[in-house]
Amino acid sequence: MTEIPQDHPRYESLLAREKLVEGVKKGLTSLQGLISQGRGESFDYLIGERSSNSALYAERAAVAALLLAENPVISVNGNAVALAPEKLVALADLSGAKLEVNLFHRTERRVHLIIDQLKACGAGEVLGKNPDRELNLPHARRLVESKGIYSADVVLVPLEDGDRCEKLVEMGKTVIAIDLNPLSRTSRTATISIVDNLNRALENMAEFSKEMKRSRKDELMKVISAYDNRKVLGSSLSEIQEQLKNLAAEISSQS
Ligand code: ATP
Repeated sequence: MTEIPQDHPRYESLLAREKLVEGVKKGLTSLQGLISQGRGESFDYLIGERSSNSALYAERAAVAALLLAENPVISVNGNAVALAPEKLVALADLSGAKLEVNLFHRTERRVHLIIDQLKACGAGEVLGKNPDRELNLPHARRLVESKGIYSADVVLVPLEDGDRCEKLVEMGKTVIAIDLNPLSRTSRTATISIVDNLNRALENMAEFSKEMKRSRKDELMKVISAYDNRKVLGSSLSEIQEQLKNLAAEISSQS
């Protein structure tokens, strides 16, 4: 991996690129995953590369849903595992969620490599290599395990594609998406849409989990019943608008 100087103004973004390129070289990540990252990065620029208030609010609601769930599952793909394997394992531990590999560009080799990578980061059981159920989808993301995504009541889907998100919602599941694009089909379909960078979202959610684990069940339920995803998505677009307005004022005042 190319060494990135820590004081480089684009350190986080360059590091993420290096991790993904490394993921491709190791066979964890698909080439198409590089394009997804590029789309995400462009939205992160517009957001201001920080967790917005609406993202933090959605992250709290997501943690409440995970802590209240009977069978929560974190769905893992090649981008997520290249970017943040330790954080995925930490959140699974803190929230009591299972980890399941689920891939659009699925090969058995890739599934095994991703499972090995998660285990090297401390994961216990990782589901996904023995799918025994199929969702009604025309691609490999249909393959799921009965004790994992298939029976889950809450599924966290970082960096998802819209049609599986839609299918999981149709099945009555609470679907938590992490997607920097507030306009993607995934963000517009999920039950809780976290418009934030994967790394920041997982870090915030781990902190919220530590704090909210001590909350009573009725307090967690209150967080969820007050949550309105349409409003939160609307706010994340307004926050982008505000950020651009401020930047426009700043840049034009320099002329
Ligand atoms: P949809 O089908 O939901 O409209 P899409 O076609 O944009 O989505 P993909 O190309 O699979 O789906 O990309 C997944 C999404 O993940 C993109 O919308 C992108 O903004 C987002 N994304 C990529 N990298 C990151 C990241 N590091 N953190 C958060 N979101 C990301």
